[in-house]
Amino acid sequence: MDQNPLLTPAFPSRLPEVGTTVFTVMSALAAEHQAINLGQGFPDFPCDRELIAHVNAAMLADHNQYPPMAGVAELRCGVAGKISALYGHNYDPESEITITAGGTQGIMTAILSCVSPGDEVVIIEPAYDSYRPSIQLAGGKPIAVSLIANRNDQGSVNSYSIPWDDLAKVIKPKTRLIIINTPHNPTGMVWQSSDLDRLARLVENTNTLILSDEVYEHMVYDGHAHQSIASHPTLAARSFLISSFGKTYHVTGWKVGYVAAPTSMMVEFRKVHQFNVFTVNTPMQHALAKYLSTADHYLNLPSFYQSKRDYFKKGLQDTGFRLLPSPATYFQCANYTQLGIPESNLSEANFCTWLTSEIGVAAIPVSAFYATPIDSGVIRFCFAKKEQTLADALARLQTL
Ligand code: GLN
Repeated sequence: MDQNPLLTPAFPSRLPEVGTTVFTVMSALAAEHQAINLGQGFPDFPCDRELIAHVNAAMLADHNQYPPMAGVAELRCGVAGKISALYGHNYDPESEITITAGGTQGIMTAILSCVSPGDEVVIIEPAYDSYRPSIQLAGGKPIAVSLIANRNDQGSVNSYSIPWDDLAKVIKPKTRLIIINTPHNPTGMVWQSSDLDRLARLVENTNTLILSDEVYEHMVYDGHAHQSIASHPTLAARSFLISSFGKTYHVTGWKVGYVAAPTSMMVEFRKVHQFNVFTVNTPMQHALAKYLSTADHYLNLPSFYQSKRDYFKKGLQDTGFRLLPSPATYFQCANYTQLGIPESNLSEANFCTWLTSEIGVAAIPVSAFYATPIDSGVIRFCFAKKEQTLADALARLQTL
């Protein structure tokens, strides 16, 4: 390095409180200690070879230049067809669906497109860590309320509910946007259709928009059904719906997702989208369009992941970990405070560091999903792994 740092002007950080995301930090720590990585949410098994064959075919068919700004038409039509079939809402693929570079870009772009400096944006914590900085970059003010953890007689959390009273208090004329996430990362909580009705009542007669992060829409277990914002016409009329092909098709590294919204919202979304990514890589979009036409590829996902969850849960049953409910997503949260070891008293972040370096299993502290970390002794494991990986991780966790 021949640069002199003294010559680089200092400037105020746009995100002074932000470091590297916990997902990146924990994956790096897992690699450093050769730990089994149940931290960052991604599968360790291969995607379907058929999907890769579609990418190869698309490249060989010379689909290698810029696609249309909003995305390959066949893929947008496929997405519209899927939403219509599953949730009964007809989005116009021409004007109401945009293919994004993953869910996180869709979220950032949606926020930048509608939040002006000084606008308030309501989030429900624990919340995915990109929401708050995205709001701050738009000049907006994040207003956090907390999910309610319901406990049984023994004091263990057995379900979560939406903090309606708190939401009613914070939703004001200045509220530009509410961000909801169902199925919820990290708790796996799913919204019921009655929850959507209640949200609709809360925002009626306001100008508040909704961003519904539904990237885990196809991972719902135990007979629950995903309630998409698209299934609720009055909410759909004021909502950005976000989803992700990476999660659904085991290709998180492709970074392809989509956003659906009413035309007037999508017009603003695309104004931002065209200048932050312009568009998303072409061959993957052609491949996904072909693959999406077989509904079984996503309809089989609940049973595929439910058996992984059950296997992982069973393995932890006889340990001192207390398992929280996980009716959806590919995450299982666990409380470690009753393990009866000195490390049970560590903060969530320190416990995860210790678990990674000393026990060889990486996990994510749930405190990372709060602006002001609430330490309740709960960590998140990702079970989107090969059975062998889960078995190896369980063997280590069972020693605790
Ligand atoms: N959504 C993933 C998770 O919660 C991580 C995405 C990322 O690393 N940016 O683990």
